[in-house]
Amino acid sequence: MRKTYFTPGPAELFPTVERHYHEAFEQQLGSISHRSQQFRDIYQHTVEQLKTLMNVPASHGIFFTSSATEIWERLIQNTVEHESFHLVNGSFSKKFYDFSHELNKYAHKLEKPFGEGFDYSEIVVPAYAELICTTANETSSGVQMRPAEIHKLKRANKDKFVCVDMVSSAPYPELDFNTVDSAFFSVQKSFGMPAGLGCWIVNPSMLEKAERMKTHENQIGTYHNLLTLFANFKKYETPETPNVMAIYVLGKVAEDMNKIGIDHIRKQTEKKAKMLYEFADKSDFLEVFVKNPEHRSQTVVVVNVKEKSAGNIIKQVQNDANMIIGAGYGDFKETQLRIANFPAVSLGQIETLIEALRQV
Ligand SMILES: *Cc1c(COP(=O)(O)O)cnc(C)c1O
Repeated sequence: MRKTYFTPGPAELFPTVERHYHEAFEQQLGSISHRSQQFRDIYQHTVEQLKTLMNVPASHGIFFTSSATEIWERLIQNTVEHESFHLVNGSFSKKFYDFSHELNKYAHKLEKPFGEGFDYSEIVVPAYAELICTTANETSSGVQMRPAEIHKLKRANKDKFVCVDMVSSAPYPELDFNTVDSAFFSVQKSFGMPAGLGCWIVNPSMLEKAERMKTHENQIGTYHNLLTLFANFKKYETPETPNVMAIYVLGKVAEDMNKIGIDHIRKQTEKKAKMLYEFADKSDFLEVFVKNPEHRSQTVVVVNVKEKSAGNIIKQVQNDANMIIGAGYGDFKETQLRIANFPAVSLGQIETLIEALRQV
């Protein structure tokens, strides 16, 4: 019997993914050249579907990398000459900050305790920061930063770039891509695909910055610098031999999501999150971890476990319902559960999960 994965990545596959991979093999996409018209058509289709789904302007580039971790590095290499600024409230946002240090930049951070989030009003941006790094959904703690707050941050700092890590929430957050400069995700989280592809959305003003940095003999990386990525993107090609199958399937999944409608996906996400949070609120052995309701993630629900052990709950739900819940992150492994609420899991599956938790 098949399991249902509520793990926050790799996660449950979107229901159509297997069929699209099957069709990709039937079309022998594993053997085509990435300099062929067939590949260019695939890349173009994926870009068009993603731009429709996430309302990305025609002018923006959409590039493919190995995963989101690579994009952290590329963003810093290509847009930060000296200083970056990071909103840190968990393991992923912290790692992005660490990368900037490792690349010899001066990295500033505003740090919040695990489980707390950021609002625009309390953020003081260092004067010389070139890139402001935000996380739409901190996967380790289940904390979101709402798009409206990210937009205010950019409007108040027009001379700086704002990038958004939307790895565990895309396409849920309704970002205004005329406001933020860049956003990125990996496919194995809320897009419900097997891992192996990062996707990077970039506005052309970042390209200008990378060009300036290159002229000043700064190091901006080799094959995945913004100049090379943009030049290849114009032809719907990639600098290296890419993951053609995943690029194809991502385009198909985005197309499926467009057919469902992004508004419907967003409403369903909120409805399912509400069910999970309300259940945890009422439960006598669970407790919603994130105290401020506005900071509660809609795509990764984190709960504290009281009395019982998190490990035992995970085991029991697996045995009883064949459903896999995520453990807490790092130090919170024994005391928290993380439940991914991605588009791949239906309302019915959330109901079944809640029923299984009720029986614990
Ligand atoms: C998983 C995750 C990443 C890293 O993604 P990889 O695919 O492992 O590179 C980055 N940011 C957030 C918020 C994540 O959840």
